[in-house]
Amino acid sequence: YVKQHGGDDVCWYHKRLKDVNGDSLQLESEIRTAINECQFIPYYQPKVVLATGETTGFEALVRWQHPTRGLLKPIDFIDAIIKLKLTFELFCQMSMQIAKQLSIWQAMGFTQHICINADATEFSHPEFFDFVSSLFTQHFIHPHQLHIEVTESSLMLRHASVKQQLNAIKALGICLALDDFGTGYASLSYLQEYPFDFIKIDQSFISKIVGDRIQLAIVKAILDLAIALDMKVIAEGIETEAQRNLLVEIDCTYGQGYWFSRPITADAATEMLSKERK
Ligand code: C2E
Ligand code: MG
Ligand code: MG
Ligand code: MG
Repeated sequence: YVKQHGGDDVCWYHKRLKDVNGDSLQLESEIRTAINECQFIPYYQPKVVLATGETTGFEALVRWQHPTRGLLKPIDFIDAIIKLKLTFELFCQMSMQIAKQLSIWQAMGFTQHICINADATEFSHPEFFDFVSSLFTQHFIHPHQLHIEVTESSLMLRHASVKQQLNAIKALGICLALDDFGTGYASLSYLQEYPFDFIKIDQSFISKIVGDRIQLAIVKAILDLAIALDMKVIAEGIETEAQRNLLVEIDCTYGQGYWFSRPITADAATEMLSKERK
């Protein structure tokens, strides 16, 4: 990489390419340091009741406070973490901070839940269930305050024991959401096979519902299916008022997206909740 060949952008691209190939020893050692030094932090995106705008919960999205590269998003490191088999370590780091946040909010009288993203690989870790149970006792929070969302794509490659693991998570009292619904190869079979409480309709459908009657028909069909299966629906990636209004019209209850709020820091989320209460 030569600086005069395009400055930071080239460097960035070059680094990303290396990261994707997983052959960057530097990235590997940086990720291990980051795990040890707790450089991974949650940002929070509000999940709202579409008709009223009321915040019912937050999705926690990991950010890496990198000592020299600034605040990094999952696209820059999540594949490397999966490759290094550090998803359980990331889950621990995120969920400890989330549990602390929940107990702070609980003390302030806020009842919102927080949803954590998981790659199904961490459920196989021998300490996963003990760890999750200890979170609840250590931070005096109730399991229903924590939700876990799993992407379709992370379920795709898993073996039969995933069903048993998801049932065990449910048995703890944790709500489960199927993330990025509609983007995988077996969306419908996941719904009948696994015990999900929420379906999150992927942004790729929501971004086209206004003015595209086929996309709208698909979203409506998902809403009908959810009613029949006794599941709740969250629309992801709402960016315009028109999208929000259309979703209210077709009775989609929950949603998230930049139109309501981008992912924000814990402090900003607390401030938001305090303002909303007034
Ligand atoms: P996701 O769980 O489907 O999260 C939604 C992504 O869309 C987030 O990107 C969010 O910032 C972004 N987003 C939200 N609203 C809008 C919108 O209105 N418009 C647009 N264009 N984008 C929107 P982010 O934070 O970069 O996360 C990307 C993915 O990384 C997540 O997709 C999730 O699969 C994964 N991820 C995030 N945090 C974690 C984590 O702690 N652990 C694991 N295993 N994966 C995580
Ligand atoms: Mg998610
Ligand atoms: Mg999603
Ligand atoms: Mg996604």
